[in-house]
Amino acid sequence: MESAEIRRRWLSFFEERGHAVVPSASLIADDPTLLLVPAGMVPFKPYFLGQATPPYPRAVSVQKCVRTPDIEEVGKTTRHGTFFQMCGNFSFGDYFKERAITLAWELMTTSQDEGGYGLDPERLWVTVYEEDDEAYRIWTETVGVPAERVQRLGKGPNFWDMGVPGPCGPCSEINYDRGPAFGPEGGPEVNDERYVELWNLVFMQYERGPGQGKDYPIVGDLPARNIDTGLGLERLAMVLQDVHNMFETDTLRVVIDKAAALTDVSYGAADESDVSLRVVADHMRTSVMLIGDGVTPGNEGRGYVLRRIMRRAIRNMRLLGASGPVVGELVDTVIGIMGEQYPELVTDRGRIESVALAEEAAFLKTLRAGTNILDTAVSETKAAGGSVLPGEQAFLLHDTWGFPIDLTLEMAAEQGLSVDESGFRRLMKEQRERAKADARAKKQGHADLTAYREFADAAGPSEFIGYTSTTGEST
Ligand code: ATP
Ligand code: MG
Ligand code: MG
Ligand code: MG
Repeated sequence: MESAEIRRRWLSFFEERGHAVVPSASLIADDPTLLLVPAGMVPFKPYFLGQATPPYPRAVSVQKCVRTPDIEEVGKTTRHGTFFQMCGNFSFGDYFKERAITLAWELMTTSQDEGGYGLDPERLWVTVYEEDDEAYRIWTETVGVPAERVQRLGKGPNFWDMGVPGPCGPCSEINYDRGPAFGPEGGPEVNDERYVELWNLVFMQYERGPGQGKDYPIVGDLPARNIDTGLGLERLAMVLQDVHNMFETDTLRVVIDKAAALTDVSYGAADESDVSLRVVADHMRTSVMLIGDGVTPGNEGRGYVLRRIMRRAIRNMRLLGASGPVVGELVDTVIGIMGEQYPELVTDRGRIESVALAEEAAFLKTLRAGTNILDTAVSETKAAGGSVLPGEQAFLLHDTWGFPIDLTLEMAAEQGLSVDESGFRRLMKEQRERAKADARAKKQGHADLTAYREFADAAGPSEFIGYTSTTGEST
């Protein structure tokens, strides 16, 4: 089933059941606490928080999402992109747990001839929050999922909140068993690549008090209980199209093929180049979607997110062997696959291309200069018997050559060196303090580092080097 058909069925299934169809909001969140929209519920937040009265009791959408904390997973796991589309159905004080669960089950398991997705019920595994007996009972008794395929999990994966006092509640996730080719059995609790999470149902029913992480008291029941769900369109496409990972689904695969053609590398030839091709496909799509929504590359905020993602794509193209400009053709390919769902990309093609091409030109210039400096620093470090690139060098590369720290980390790692990150951060901090004290320095154009800080803080210091992101960003 094509991605476009998955979307059509999603919207019509819920529309036929009384949900208002709401178009995707822009990726630029209308919310001061967020840089970009990471989940389908964001545009409905005021309704969930009781700050505005919803004009409808039920809604359905397919929302554009960007999750930068997942960046290191991209291309390595089968299921994490920086951009993806979250199919969601929402109830504002209307139906609750039982209806949300039975609707989800109906859509997943109804045959494709009858308008559903036709998934084999025996391959579906469910998780519930360990104390949510009500959800457990609905799954096992009302729906009839055998108890051995319903797992009770803790708060980490299965209890939702917004990080601040307000609504919270248990979740229940629907996972699909992709079979032994994806690893050992045991359910989603032990193997999240084989038992891939498709759909998260959030049952907002409690009010939480203050606290850190998941450590907070429940202070009462919400006056109106809400439903917020999120199903990854690309993940469902991966399952329904029976491909290995989300980048091989009908739309993204076209970008992989384009990147392969531009670099003369064939997809499937080697693990390392396959990861790069998937990163390129993902990151170029994310870049186009961000530029389409009005983000321009820069050194702060969303602009920095875009810059970092686009530069990673370009760098991976170079690792694959590209030497000249590649962005123009990749942007065109992305507009080709996404333009049907998002026609504004087609109308805006000229602007999107020129923003992307300008960023490519700027980065290629930076890379040429910075790479020489980095190579020299690496040889000097090695010659002195060291294995850690000094923080001063990372700082110089950032300050003078515009090298994002993660680029330095990656390029140093390729040559077997780590980087003194805390030294780098100390110098950055000193520079910020100097800049503050010296208005003249500011006017001369010191880079605004706020964005990088925000980015790094949000993702945690290990985000750039670790492949084990545990950032649990729930629907
Ligand atoms: P995972 O545990 O696999 O990282 P999640 O629990 O972080 O997923 P949710 O926050 O529950 O995901 O989001 C709802 C749905 O959105 C998920 O069930 C999944 O189908 C989809 N989704 C989440 N993150 C991504 C991503 N980075 N790329 C593609 N789809 C995603
Ligand atoms: Mg999860
Ligand atoms: Mg989830
Ligand atoms: Mg996640």
